[in-house]
Amino acid sequence: MAHEPDPYSDFHSAETGKPFQDCISCGLSLDDPNLPYLVSKSFRRDECIFEYAICEDCRSNMAQEFSPESRASLAHFFEERVNVKARSILLAFGSDPNPWIEKCAACQTPRIEMESYSMGGVLLGMEMLFDPYPLCLCGKCEEEIQELLSKKTRGMWDDFVDTHFEGPPADLQNLPVTGRPALF
Ligand SMILES: [Zn+2]
Ligand SMILES: [Zn+2]
Repeated sequence: MAHEPDPYSDFHSAETGKPFQDCISCGLSLDDPNLPYLVSKSFRRDECIFEYAICEDCRSNMAQEFSPESRASLAHFFEERVNVKARSILLAFGSDPNPWIEKCAACQTPRIEMESYSMGGVLLGMEMLFDPYPLCLCGKCEEEIQELLSKKTRGMWDDFVDTHFEGPPADLQNLPVTGRPALF
């Protein structure tokens, strides 16, 4: 069967080439059209080195466990550095995710110039939910965010990675393992 190219293929699994099937945390199937889920992918240059999808419930449970200081720091970072209002203008592009992810949301470096970066997008069934996602953060800004997180929150993140990823893949060692909680 021939298919139209999916406009959200950047948010499919790089491993399978297909939409993510289930939540990395609870294993729930992601085809429930009432349950949004976040896709997070990290790249070095063009290569995807880390990816997962997590359902809204697990994502908010995890965010609850962030220390209050970390949550405050993250909120502050986004207020100061990510111009959320200006990004809303991108809604004019309709269902095209590209304008949302062509630059780092914080420092505006074009994605093609980045050594490493992460992208996050929220999907609901076959649809994408816009504003403030999808977004892209460069490795440098991710590192900056990492510095803002409390030890406890960083430990939580490490546990998440240990639990859900076999490895650690050698690649993961060189990641700015760091900013990912920012994509929660
Ligand atoms: Zn889940
Ligand atoms: Zn940046």
